[in-house]
Amino acid sequence: MRQSDSVLLIYTGGTIGMYKTNEGSLRPFDLDTLSTQIPELNTFDIDINAISIAQPIDSSNMSKEVWIQLAEIIEKEYNNFNGFVILHGSDTMAYTASALSFMLENLNKPVILTGAQLPIGVRRTDAKENIITSIEIAAQGNIPEVCVYFEYRLMRGNRCTKANAEHFEAFKSPNFIYLAEAGLDIKYSPIKYDHTHKDLKVHTNLCEDVLILKLFPSMKKEYIAKVLDLPYKGIILETFGAGNATTADWFLRAIQTAIDNGKLILNVSQCLSGSVSQGLYETSSKLDELGVIGGKDMTTEAALAKMMYLLGTDYSQDEIKQHLQISLRGELSN
Ligand code: ASP
Repeated sequence: MRQSDSVLLIYTGGTIGMYKTNEGSLRPFDLDTLSTQIPELNTFDIDINAISIAQPIDSSNMSKEVWIQLAEIIEKEYNNFNGFVILHGSDTMAYTASALSFMLENLNKPVILTGAQLPIGVRRTDAKENIITSIEIAAQGNIPEVCVYFEYRLMRGNRCTKANAEHFEAFKSPNFIYLAEAGLDIKYSPIKYDHTHKDLKVHTNLCEDVLILKLFPSMKKEYIAKVLDLPYKGIILETFGAGNATTADWFLRAIQTAIDNGKLILNVSQCLSGSVSQGLYETSSKLDELGVIGGKDMTTEAALAKMMYLLGTDYSQDEIKQHLQISLRGELSN
């Protein structure tokens, strides 16, 4: 077992792992040169170790296999470090954070994903602050959950979403408070954690038979019928407003057939904040009557990851339905 204040940095790729060469091109970052690029790291009284996944990627290429690699690294090194910092591209960071939150049951240490909008080595890079503060928070070890740290804010990983493609403030946590804000000091929000003494349990059996179906006005019935007929087990239905959808007969019939064929349909909103409330309008009452499951205020990313996780367990369909509606890792408000 290591001394206290040790952090494992896990590098997966993305802008945060790039630096600008003298010729101006972007090159993947060599971990050995991390402290050359961020000399501030040498002033830390924290033991920082770094490893990389087998093949670093732009996070648009993220996959279940990489999530499994990350979960297995954390499992293997769990007792050796106070916390973990995952350097990750911002594009799919909210998906990875959501997936890891479900894969790492009984997590009692911080797992912080961070990234950057500008590569290290570019004068105005945001990478340095994001890495330095993430390491500090991980070393303190008092947030026992999967988080995203970006531009002075620590967010619950399964509550955040990438909301801006160019601002440094790229992530939002629309339905949940920030876990911490970094200013002169790092101020933690007053969440009372039930620190578990149970062993970490890592779930790697994720089901990929899941899809996201975003509704839009003037959808063609052939399209909906085809998508709902695909051999998938779980469908994340992105609806309008508080969980509303067209009441056209053909649409409701297609939903009914999919449910009768054993598919689980989880309703989340296209809105950034607020909650699905099936039954509030007539346009959602119908979905409720057909057995569509209300996803409350879950993000699409969390809903997808939760469905993949639950369908990979040996829960019965009824148990999965129940679990989709309650908070397992703080991903929804009850
Ligand atoms: N495309 C990059 C990625 O997600 C963008 C970034 O790193 O922020 O890997």
